Amino acid sequence: MSKSKKNLSMTKEALEQETDRLLTDHEAKKDKDFIDFMAKMVVDIAFREAAKETKLLDHPKGFHLEGGHTCTICQQICSDELSWYDQFGVKCTACQAAVDKKIIPPTLCKHPESFYSMFELEHCFNLDSKILRRWIKGGILKARVIPGLTKGVHATLFLIKDNKMFLPPKSLVKSGIASEEINGRKEYIFPIPWYRLCDDPLGRIKKYGIVEHMVTIEM
Ligand SMILES: [Zn+2]
Repeated sequence: MSKSKKNLSMTKEALEQETDRLLTDHEAKKDKDFIDFMAKMVVDIAFREAAKETKLLDHPKGFHLEGGHTCTICQQICSDELSWYDQFGVKCTACQAAVDKKIIPPTLCKHPESFYSMFELEHCFNLDSKILRRWIKGGILKARVIPGLTKGVHATLFLIKDNKMFLPPKSLVKSGIASEEINGRKEYIFPIPWYRLCDDPLGRIKKYGIVEHMVTIEM
């Protein structure tokens, strides 16, 4: 038996044991191709991460990355000279400039639970941006505004430590995941807001000022 056939046969046996059902050769080949693809991707990612860490030794202040990446702060895609990588992680140059000007701390990169973005606040509490802007203006909410590189606003963030009495920790307002079964298979996966998953959403966040601005509506 050739080496590749032997590998396929071993994978098929392992998958059959795992799923507790017999697989056709076609199914086993498809699953093995997928596993091989994922394994190669993990190795590629590990190599790329190691290369970045090595380059950081020569450029401790950071450097631009090649290709497209996601900023760990604003979650926008940044690439090449509009990206920056340092010990804290990947940032776009607008967020990096905000770090340099001490508008935001660099630790936000590694601690996404320490702040809400505008989108997250809107999504978690079913708010619109007009209300949020009114709260900022009224001093109810403290915002950190990241300026755009040339003009305007790049992103607005709400740090938990700035709004300790007003905003609950993100762990209390985590969305759930639901899936829909079509013909016995899980086909469609979608998020469900936290307030639809608990019996008493206002009770859950009662210690935080935002609750005074919330109402529940019977559906
Ligand atoms: Zn950014």
